[in-house]
Amino acid sequence: MSLPTTAILSALAEEQQGLLDLLQRPRRVRRAGREFWQGELHGTPVVLALSRIGKVAAATTATTLIEAFGARRLVFTGVAGGIAPGVQVGDVVVASEFVQHDMDASPLFPRYQIPLYARERFACDVALADLLHEATHAGLQRLALPQSVRVHQGLIASGDRFVSAAEEARRLHAALSDAGHAPLAVEMEGAAVAQVCHDYGLPFAAVRTISDRADDSAHVDFPQFVTEVASRYALAIVDEFVRELNKSRA
Ligand code: SAH
Repeated sequence: MSLPTTAILSALAEEQQGLLDLLQRPRRVRRAGREFWQGELHGTPVVLALSRIGKVAAATTATTLIEAFGARRLVFTGVAGGIAPGVQVGDVVVASEFVQHDMDASPLFPRYQIPLYARERFACDVALADLLHEATHAGLQRLALPQSVRVHQGLIASGDRFVSAAEEARRLHAALSDAGHAPLAVEMEGAAVAQVCHDYGLPFAAVRTISDRADDSAHVDFPQFVTEVASRYALAIVDEFVRELNKSRA
């Protein structure tokens, strides 16, 4: 019996490059104006894709991965802005759930609720998120970094804004917290992919390295961090994740 295909979504090309270098029997396929890479990582069938930026783009990518490439579980690696106190640049956040911070159909539906789903949050698959959490620790350990990296697990907020002002970040965190959805980090795709996976009943997990504090220097911190730190983290984490996935099936 052939193994189910795992989709690995990266947010940025720099993060995907290391995985492409490791991909065995690579085949490039164009679909929906996007490039997908099918192949194997440590013998596990995978399809690699760039999510593209923002919720709609990420939802199209996720749907294509499922419908056209037969992905049966989806894993996302990327960067995010740290928004909770104590979530600092260089930390890593494993998602347990996602909320859309820019969803507001009030007064028809409560603030943050996704209309017709009767829910504000989409949860990650517990087993897959646990595996990704373990892989995150193992991957970071393997990098033998000079100082240990803090790994958090919890709620991430997604929306179609690059949050790059301290006042905006503060307001966003306060409003979400007041509604009972205090997030650790903010980014632009995760909640969309989580919703698509919910629709298809497929497991989803995500990990984000904190590239900035979503404040006034976010745009300065961001590019250098992606190339120098986040790409290395993402590669080590995904590499361990695929190994653990193989072990868990053995
Ligand atoms: N310079 C990039 C664009 C990055 S957009 C390019 O040219 O390709 C920011 C990306 O990082 C998004 O994928 C988003 O998910 C994540 N991100 C990191 N910090 C963020 C922040 N402060 N607010 C929102 N998204 C952030």
